[in-house]
Amino acid sequence: MEGSKYGFRAHRGVQMVIQRAHWVQQQAMKESGTLIRIDLDFKNAFHSAGNSCFWAILRGLGVPDVDFLEDLYGKSWMKITVGTGCSAPIQLDTETVQGSVLSPLLFDLFLNALLRLLDATGIKHGIKRTPQWNHAAFADDLSIYVCTVRDANKILDVIHEFESWSGLWISIPKSLATGAMYGTGMEIRQEGAKADAAKRKRDAGPDILKLQIQALGAMDEALDANNIAKLSTKGQEAWRINSATMYRQCPICNIKKGNCHFPTKLHLNPPCLECKHAWKPSGIKFSRTSLKVIHGKTPIRLLGIRYNMWLDSTAQRHYVVMDGITDMACFLRKNRDISIENRLRLIECTLAPLLAFSGLVIIWPEKEFKRLTATFV
Ligand SMILES: [Zn+2]
Repeated sequence: MEGSKYGFRAHRGVQMVIQRAHWVQQQAMKESGTLIRIDLDFKNAFHSAGNSCFWAILRGLGVPDVDFLEDLYGKSWMKITVGTGCSAPIQLDTETVQGSVLSPLLFDLFLNALLRLLDATGIKHGIKRTPQWNHAAFADDLSIYVCTVRDANKILDVIHEFESWSGLWISIPKSLATGAMYGTGMEIRQEGAKADAAKRKRDAGPDILKLQIQALGAMDEALDANNIAKLSTKGQEAWRINSATMYRQCPICNIKKGNCHFPTKLHLNPPCLECKHAWKPSGIKFSRTSLKVIHGKTPIRLLGIRYNMWLDSTAQRHYVVMDGITDMACFLRKNRDISIENRLRLIECTLAPLLAFSGLVIIWPEKEFKRLTATFV
């Protein structure tokens, strides 16, 4: 079995996949160059494992008694209880048997053939001073890590070939590509963003959102012209100021920034200049269809854990850990009649698993860790 396979295997889990990816990204952030990640989604993976090639793969891998397995799977059928009756027997011919203890193992062996193909391409993620590999797989999730668009397309071609042969289909709308440029390349681009921001500041004066505010004002006036009952101008003013400050959060990196970090074009929700200038992979295609590209600064969910290409896990810390803890603290505050033993048991049952799953593999800045401790106390 390939070392890059983490699903349905003893002593392996989601955390190891994430940790392995973190090490590469951490090293990448210290070096120069680009890293591209492609998350592929298998369409109904466990059901589409077409049987004939399935057995061919098992025989090729030297699994004993494949005939026996083939007989067992070939002759299995199921009945579904509907209300008081029962459906006609349904023959199973294109899937691993649901609920069978063998199914996960057989699926792993099947996917292993693809993973070996990927290793055989000789393509690596290319980040120096760290073990070289190009993919990580967990159950039906497959992530590809490469350093150039050319390599990405080569790997996708291999997967496409496997797809047409095995019947294990990729869902293109659910798959995505992301990437980042680190080191000197990124610095040059950030210099560009800084120069852009400085120029904006010089050209536009202290408040470049003035244009937006003026436009909103004009819109109000136009609406007022048709309106007999005039709204109080004081309320309008407050609303204008509110909306102007509201849009100063970048929709890509989710960081709140000063005005000059945003483009001057009248756009209600613009990305900040740094995100606008950041490198993004393009031209990644799977069987002639371009994959959706997500900005490297945007957190992406991988196996239930959200982080971006700079290992920023703010989203994970907030949505899951901090929100869960705050909810619990509010609940305990409201229900003061619960005994101290039961309170502690409640915390043990809910917060411990919440932290155990994702808390340990994401990065906690010291400030956030202090907040976590304070909330716990
Ligand atoms: Zn941004």
